[in-house]
Amino acid sequence: MIKRVLMLICDGLGDRPVKELGNKTPLEAAKTPNLDKLASGAECGLMHTLGRGFTPGSDTAHLTIFGYPIDKYYSGRGPIEVAGLGLKLEGGDVALRGNFGTVDENMMIKDRRAGRILEVEPLTKAIDGMEVDGIKFIVKPGTAHRAGVIMRGEGLSGNIIDADPHVPDVPIRTVTPTDDTKEAKHTAEVLNKFLLKAHKVLKDHPFNAERVKDGKLPANFLLVRGGGQYISLPSFKERYDLTSCCIAGGGLYKGVAAFLGMDIIDVPGATGLPDTDIEAKFKTSLEKLDSYDFVFTHVKAADSLSEDGNWEGKRDFIEKIDRAAALLTNLPDDVMLVVTADHSTASEMKAHSADPVPIMFYGGGGESIRIDKVTEFNERACAKGGLGYIVGLDVMPQIQNILGTLHLVGA
Ligand code: ZN
Repeated sequence: MIKRVLMLICDGLGDRPVKELGNKTPLEAAKTPNLDKLASGAECGLMHTLGRGFTPGSDTAHLTIFGYPIDKYYSGRGPIEVAGLGLKLEGGDVALRGNFGTVDENMMIKDRRAGRILEVEPLTKAIDGMEVDGIKFIVKPGTAHRAGVIMRGEGLSGNIIDADPHVPDVPIRTVTPTDDTKEAKHTAEVLNKFLLKAHKVLKDHPFNAERVKDGKLPANFLLVRGGGQYISLPSFKERYDLTSCCIAGGGLYKGVAAFLGMDIIDVPGATGLPDTDIEAKFKTSLEKLDSYDFVFTHVKAADSLSEDGNWEGKRDFIEKIDRAAALLTNLPDDVMLVVTADHSTASEMKAHSADPVPIMFYGGGGESIRIDKVTEFNERACAKGGLGYIVGLDVMPQIQNILGTLHLVGA
């Protein structure tokens, strides 16, 4: 009987046939004996994560796979990234992510990342907890020049434009509302006041004076973007009665997991880049199955490589995933392994696409899962699988069904 779940999401794994690869997709062209062995003992299918005809972003795709409909729970990148920094959000908060940048005395942006400053904690500390018109601003450092900001108080809205114009050598952008509500207007006004007030503190901060003395750019303005209002949601534990953790290199994925209340496990060598130590991630994933019911493991680089149009690099990275997947071919019988992707990334387009992704449910040692006749893990082989075509919101119910935790409908 299956009791525990390891979900491996290979970002952007699906692709389209590439002429240079003999009209195979990178996944078809890659030598993947271990993934194929797993597929031979699995029920397979294809998944339109957000439904047919929708091109998923990584954030919306992951939320959907974990069973959180995006029309109900998604309100932009801000809340997810801020959750990933370890900040606890409350219903009604507006969360933004941002960069510490450099502006001159005319408020022209000289550098959006303040010369790629490596540490901003002394600066976030100086403005954390500031209040403007009854709204509290919670500011915490992210990696390098990045920071997360929470606006907390009554009558806020996430419907505002970014303060970050996304290019240098232009004036800072005044935040404006994107709808006519008084909440959006109020939020924009308060945020503009805060950004200027914070600028006054930052420009005179000894940490920046020191930087200027060393010939570096001062980090004197917070360029915020991705504003979204946090909507309270049930945690993964509340939703499924499963304890869960996340093993990922990329900040966005840790953010999604933290957003759902999963524990974040840091693995040395997990970089989110092609050089990432996949074996270390898989080893830790297997260890964590002793203390968690559900382990979410994310591997990023197949997506980034196809966004660069590098189908050979993607093929080679998939082979690297496969070598590490040897560790997953001897699972205890009470563990189910789900392998899939959040979306396809078409190397020919260098962008995410709406093409469905392969998915397999493996485990049980031959029991519990209806193993089908698919013997390879790739886009076209999985099209012949027992699951047929599913959508992202089918994944968790499928898992609950195997675990025996679905409720009876009717009598
Ligand atoms: Zn993705």
